[in-house]
Amino acid sequence: MFISSQFDGGNIECLDSSDPANILLTIRADNQSDFYQWFYFRAANVRDLDCRYLITNAAGAAYTGGWEGYQAVASYDREFWFRVETSYDGEKLLIEHNSSEDQVYFAYFAPYSMERHADLLAFAQTSERCQAETLGVTLDGQSMDCLRFGEIESGRKVIWMVARQHPGETMAEWWMEGLVNRLVDHSDPVVNAILDKAVIYLVPNMNPDGSRRGHLRTNAAGSNLNREWDNPSEEKSPEVLCVLEKIKQTGLDFGLDVHGDEALPYNFIAGTEGITGWNHERQQQLELYKMTLANINPDFQVENGYPPNS
Ligand SMILES: [Zn+2]
Repeated sequence: MFISSQFDGGNIECLDSSDPANILLTIRADNQSDFYQWFYFRAANVRDLDCRYLITNAAGAAYTGGWEGYQAVASYDREFWFRVETSYDGEKLLIEHNSSEDQVYFAYFAPYSMERHADLLAFAQTSERCQAETLGVTLDGQSMDCLRFGEIESGRKVIWMVARQHPGETMAEWWMEGLVNRLVDHSDPVVNAILDKAVIYLVPNMNPDGSRRGHLRTNAAGSNLNREWDNPSEEKSPEVLCVLEKIKQTGLDFGLDVHGDEALPYNFIAGTEGITGWNHERQQQLELYKMTLANINPDFQVENGYPPNS
């Protein structure tokens, strides 16, 4: 059998695959960082074999709580991802699987590749209400892409939504894909009403380098971009620098920074108290927004989330 991860978003090191009952793997840490947890690999020549994949360095992962009751994702066609049970003994993560095909892919969450990202941008720009703008370049030379929906007119609210600062949180870009699909739909009355009053800027992927490298949390230089907004630099965080520059040009009335959580299966809003200039009035606006959203959208709730200042 063969284990490989030399593809877009791949991450695994194979120590020993000579015995299908004892396949020894380790997750590679993010470049210039100690963070790791994202994995994505292919096992080949495994049809009808009882395979035991052991991630031997699971105990050193960024959030070991994420291994409790965890189900990995697997796919034969790389479109449909199904769940597979795992077990964690406090040291190693075990995935047991018998493949019905010659090759099977495993990942931490459903992958969102940079190729799919390129497809998303290409699809969006063909909408007459969408403009695609490249704001800058990453350390690996990839583009920092922004999509604008709606016309710039005075009096319109300016909405910014960015996603996937943490590349292992692939669900954040799946969220963006769903949003783009709604925004291009001229028959969606909610979208039409919003675009009458607002202009929307999207950065579907804040961390292309980490995404392509198969990182969990950081960019090519090992920077946690979520911690760079106070003082971004060309050397450590050009991704944040170019997006922040654009936000300063356009202004911002409403912003969402989309993440995924390893353990909490809920949609919630957290972390606003860390914003510069946060005050009582803004907190009240946020509470009204959250309650209104929870009332009209069964996917959103306010009971579960992070405590303030966590
Ligand atoms: Zn995150």
